Amino acid sequence: TRSLVWFRRDLRAEDHAALHFALTRSAQVSCGFVFDTDILAPLPRADRRVEFIHGAVVELDAALRELQPGAGLIVRHGRAEEEIVRLAVQLGVEFVVASHDDEPASLARDAVRERLAAQGIGFHTVKDHVIFERSEVLTATGSPFSVFTPYKNAWLRKLAPFFVKAYPVQRHAQGLAPLPDDAGAIPSLAALGFEPTNLSTLRLPLGAQGAQQLLEDFLSRIDDYGSARDFPAVRGPSYLSVHLRFGTVSIRQLAAAAWRRTDSPGAAVWLSELVWRDFYHQILHHHPHVVERSFKPAYDAIRWEEGDEADDNFKAWCEGRTGYPLVDAAMLQIRQSGYMHNRLRMVVASFLVKDLGIDWRRGEAFFATHLNDFDLAANNGGWQWAASTGCDAQPYFRIFNPVSQSEKFDPQGQFIRRYLPQLAKLPDGLIHAPWQARPVDLEAAGVQLGRDYPRPIVRHEIARMQTLERYKVVKGHP
Ligand code: FAD
Repeated sequence: TRSLVWFRRDLRAEDHAALHFALTRSAQVSCGFVFDTDILAPLPRADRRVEFIHGAVVELDAALRELQPGAGLIVRHGRAEEEIVRLAVQLGVEFVVASHDDEPASLARDAVRERLAAQGIGFHTVKDHVIFERSEVLTATGSPFSVFTPYKNAWLRKLAPFFVKAYPVQRHAQGLAPLPDDAGAIPSLAALGFEPTNLSTLRLPLGAQGAQQLLEDFLSRIDDYGSARDFPAVRGPSYLSVHLRFGTVSIRQLAAAAWRRTDSPGAAVWLSELVWRDFYHQILHHHPHVVERSFKPAYDAIRWEEGDEADDNFKAWCEGRTGYPLVDAAMLQIRQSGYMHNRLRMVVASFLVKDLGIDWRRGEAFFATHLNDFDLAANNGGWQWAASTGCDAQPYFRIFNPVSQSEKFDPQGQFIRRYLPQLAKLPDGLIHAPWQARPVDLEAAGVQLGRDYPRPIVRHEIARMQTLERYKVVKGHP
């Protein structure tokens, strides 16, 4: 029998559930990837994620060739639903296998099942992207969790070596089929219609090999994760999110690495973050309305700011011109690198929603365009958490103060100075709120507000009161 593995957000050759499924059920396994025009068409012509994926695809092809001489990745460019059927028919396979992807657009794409069935070809999908998916972790009464801590406890209770065991692909590699003669070369980035970005200049190791490098580096400092992860100027987190997004690393490998370190408090905290990831994925599966609306229906009654002033404020937020240095430095980080530190994601999200009164969905959409690691489930979960509209979210009356967050998590202003060099000479005590500095201090640091750096676009204390007022409509609602 013959089969085809359709690679999507699982761009690696090792510990791969779908590849293992195919290799253990058919004699000849081909591997295919489609640069899907439906996904690519709306993207900006310079997009770090397309470049990241392109590099990962080239590397995956090389890894498959190494596993089995003559094998490799067949790469197509077109509408995935059509290309996969065409390829499956051309190869004469009995079935196609892919990893689960529970985003609504991906589920819609899985309608390829019917097209394949019309050709007498089967379509299987398997779990690969999370440790526990869909309804695998439920409450004692069999309903989905909507509060994190009990979910995490149930998740940890269920965890067993089986769930983090690697799928041994190498052992079955002789089943990888030779590439067909007309397989063709992998199209260049330019042939796909994209321009190079600054991706290769960032300190982000790329592809599956890059992920292993990052993991090794992170494991050498995982013990400190719990204390270091909240400080954006410190190399605290793993920076593996983009690799998890595109599957250039296996979640099982990461969870196993953390779980094994039973004596490391840092590893336990990190494992908890991986559980958050599963948590939001199962929320999206059970409550797909979150894509458009609040998790908590009562919160849909909130009236967000609209009109010219709100649009101007939104633009200032997007461009890092709010006058709040930590917020602006964070927005410059995402614009320049496609990454933003977790603490800062919370700070800027809170600022947009609770200082500017702007609908969280506008911020969510901005992140979706700019984040390398953009993941619908985690991004939506993060935004709804910050806006207090989500499951197990921050209560609405808890409002981050952007200045005290800055003083607490970037006390020496190291992170701010990296992105806002015009403020570099301000002393530590003044860099968090330059408008509060005396003119003589500003002058000494060479800063003229309104020229070198904006004055704050809102006053936090006033915005705070307006937010409490705005959220009154949900008072008494769970
Ligand atoms: P680490 O601290 O090393 O964490 C390890 C991994 O755990 C991450 O790679 C990620 O996969 C997972 N993780 C950590 N925190 C969370 C969390 N709160 N929710 C879900 N998974 C988590 N994460 C994304 O992967 N994609 C997004 O689009 C995304 N959008 C976010 C939007 C907002 C408003 C907020 C507050 C958070 C968002 N996050 C998102 C979660 C988190 O900020 C990132 O996962 C993290 O900053 C990535 O950096 P890291 O890999 O160095 O993280």
